[in-house]
Amino acid sequence: SLLASRHGMASGPVDQASKAVSCDFALEQDLRRAITAGEFETWFQPFLDARTQSVCGAEALIRWRHPVRGLVGPAEFIPLAEAAGLAAELGTWVLDAACRAAGNWTAMGLPGVKVAVNVSGHQLEREGFDNLVERTLGRHGLSARLLELELTESIAMADSRTAAQLFERIRASGAAISIDDFGTGFSSLSSLKKLSFDKLKIDREFVTDVDSRRDCQAICQSIIALARGLGISVLAEGVERPEEMLWLRRHGCNLFQGFYFARPMPEADFLAFARSGQTITSLFTTHARPSS
Ligand code: C2E
Ligand code: MG
Ligand code: MG
Ligand code: MG
Repeated sequence: SLLASRHGMASGPVDQASKAVSCDFALEQDLRRAITAGEFETWFQPFLDARTQSVCGAEALIRWRHPVRGLVGPAEFIPLAEAAGLAAELGTWVLDAACRAAGNWTAMGLPGVKVAVNVSGHQLEREGFDNLVERTLGRHGLSARLLELELTESIAMADSRTAAQLFERIRASGAAISIDDFGTGFSSLSSLKKLSFDKLKIDREFVTDVDSRRDCQAICQSIIALARGLGISVLAEGVERPEEMLWLRRHGCNLFQGFYFARPMPEADFLAFARSGQTITSLFTTHARPSS
């Protein structure tokens, strides 16, 4: 494995590279310990529909409650977990935690609120990923209709024939597939054509300042047109200002996620937010200005 060969280096001369490796090694040991110790948490960031002015779901985002370092974000440990072969184990944990949470939302008065779970390439490559999804849904009594799996373009493109079959099986089960960070990966339109999926998530890179930047406007308009042409939904991620939301709405994007609406938060806070009808309505209306 990648890590085994890097560890091999660590016994060699001590240079910059081997220092970095031994540091990774410590973090890897720490990650293994944390999995056993149960130090991971699932936070939830709402996504909303402007047409109903309500929360339609939440993205599950993993956090590491480290005893010394405090709350650690996924950017700091997911890449290492993938290199260390721990991504599938963590992914299985997140899927379970997310489905357990969402399995209760209907009973808690939030019918139809979905959960979106990020899936890593390593996790998807594992034999029987579709069975894992079905077993997890079954264990928590969650309808497949309420689960979305978020994949990045690079995963979707890596092996398009295998990916196409897996996508088919997942979608046949009733769960949905979203392409995450759309526009930042390496997808060709011809690989996209071989796959069937349900949603494009426009990357924050194109959403930031879309109300004033011509380049972002051209890209967002193209992605929105592509989604419409394919008959799938489109969501803008990383919306931080109402002007961005208003521009996107005027151009046909009605699903939103971002700090303007809500940050990722523990489940209890998410439930409170999802029930705060007035607050949500005002996010869509108080900043509304006549369109230009
Ligand atoms: P992502 O899937 O694209 O998730 C969205 C990220 O953007 C989250 O960061 C979220 O906090 C952040 N974000 C949302 N709205 C805004 C905004 O308005 N402004 C800014 N500046 N940021 C915003 P987070 O939680 O740090 O996650 C980073 C990435 O780590 C995720 O990107 C995803 O690729 C990965 N990740 C997170 N949880 C998991 C997981 O359970 N499994 C896997 N495989 N990857 C995960
Ligand atoms: Mg995501
Ligand atoms: Mg994303
Ligand atoms: Mg992103």
